[in-house]
Formats: sequence, structure tokens, C-alpha cells
Amino acid sequence: MHLQAVADLPEIRPGDDLAALIAERTALEDGDVVTIASTVVSKAEDRQADLADFPAGPRAREIAGRLEALSDEEKDPRFAQAVLEESTELVTDAPFLLTETRFGHVCVNAGIDRSNVPDHDLLLLPKRPTESAERIRAGLLEESNIEPGNGEGEGLAVVVTDTCGRPFRFGQRGVALGWAGIPASRDWRGETDRDGREMGVTVQSVIDELSSAANLVTGEGDDGTPAVVVRDWEFGDHAGSDNLFRDLDGDFVRQALRDWQYDPEERR
Ligand code: GDP
Ligand code: MN
Ligand code: MN
Repeated sequence: MHLQAVADLPEIRPGDDLAALIAERTALEDGDVVTIASTVVSKAEDRQADLADFPAGPRAREIAGRLEALSDEEKDPRFAQAVLEESTELVTDAPFLLTETRFGHVCVNAGIDRSNVPDHDLLLLPKRPTESAERIRAGLLEESNIEPGNGEGEGLAVVVTDTCGRPFRFGQRGVALGWAGIPASRDWRGETDRDGREMGVTVQSVIDELSSAANLVTGEGDDGTPAVVVRDWEFGDHAGSDNLFRDLDGDFVRQALRDWQYDPEERR
């Protein structure tokens, strides 16, 4: 397996054709997986915004006031308003805003970025990252003259990524937000391990693993390498699944968070 950043991509602007920009700079091959940082997908889809676009309502003002009191830092209620508008549920409102975005991804501040955004205050996540991935994949197939294949490792796959923190562990890593041409996971259930034992639970989130690997190449700062080509990796002969975001029903951590209140006095 090889990972290679696409070189010399320009600053991405609203309306840019990412598929064309990538295909012009790299010779894609059948079976490649192309990962693209959501930052540039958002820029191409004109998801830049300004704080002035989000006049704060009472809830946002209350949330920002509480965060400000907890942190001794100034908190702009318009930022809280933007987070609320991008979210379907506020999972925690202190000591930070953990929300579910409209497309089902749970992350801090609805994934709204303030870095790598020239001329604007904010960059919102793509509205529907899987649709973005599908559109970019269709463009890449056309530009590179590759047959679409059967959607499981043939043709091309596209994964739209973000960098995201994790509960229980320090540090952030790449995660998948949207995908096309590849299932989200390899389902190992029913397959056997080296001792012939049948596996009962292993569902391997390959698109997150690909995103994390690619994020090593992408970098987080001024590298200018939002797109990575993963070559010589195969999904293989496994059942696939497109579940990535847990439903609240089977998500006990999230259920527990619903009943949890941050209390600075009780911190241990
Ligand atoms: P995120 O992980 O999607 O939030 O994106 P990051 O802000 O971490 O940026 C990922 C990579 O894309 C870094 O290498 C940035 O330097 C690069 N990047 C961000 N915006 C642009 C852009 O408009 N053009 C190019 N060429 N690179 C960009
Ligand atoms: Mn981001
Ligand atoms: Mn990043």
C-alpha cells in the first residue's frame, strides 16, 4: 500500500472543480482510493461563513456565557449560534460543544474550522459529505477514463475526511465523513481467525483507517496537501457495510452523556 499526496493543488475557491484539479495533477489508476480533506470540499462548496451571518439567539447567548465563565476566555455567542445551526443535537454544552451534525457525525463544534480559511471567519463542514464524495468520484472517473466497477474496490473510491478528537485518548486523527465507491466497513463476522474460531463482532471501519493513514500525509497546517492517493490497497473479498454513525439506540456512551452535566467542582 502506498500513500501519495497530490502535489501543487492551489488555494481552493468556491465553485472549483476538485475532481478536475486532482485529475490534472495525478494519473489515477483503477483501484485507487482518493482521500480529500473536508476543508477543501467545503471551500469548493462555498461553505465559508462569517460570524456576522449568525446573529445569536437566547440559547446561543446562554451557552456562550456559560462557556466563558468556565474558561475565562471570551466566547462569541455567534459561534455558538453557528454550531447550533449546523447540528441536530447538542450532546454536551459544557465544557465544550459536542454535537451531532446534520449528516450524523458527532464532533466538537459541529466540525466548524477557524484555521486554513482565508478571508472568512469560519468554515462549515460540507452539508452532505457522502454526496460530495459521490460527485467528486463521478468527476474523477470521467477525467481519468476509469470504469466505475462494482463499488467494492474496483474503479475508484473517494473518502471525504476531517481531523477529529477521540474520547478516552489524547490527540486527533483523520476520520471519514463521506465516502463513495467503497463500503464504510469490512464485516469480518462469520470469517475465521488463525485458530479456526469464527469471529462474532469485528467490523473494521476501513474508511476511518484509510482517513487516518492519509491524514499522516495530509498534515494539519500549511502543507497544502488536502488530497491523497492510496494505491495497492484492496477492500478484498469481505462483506461490506455502510454503517458508520451509530444510532442513539445502540450508543450507550452517548445515552450516558445525555444525563451527564459538567460540574467543575466535581472534577477529579
Ligand atoms: P481538515 O482536516 O479537513 O480540517 O483540513 P486541515 O485544515 O487540517 O487541512 C488539511 C490539509 O489541506 C493541510 O495540508 C492544509 O495545508 C491543506 N489545505 C487547506 N486548504 C487548502 C487549500 O485551499 N488548498 C490547498 N492546496 N491545500 C489546502
Ligand atoms: Mn476540519
Ligand atoms: Mn486536518
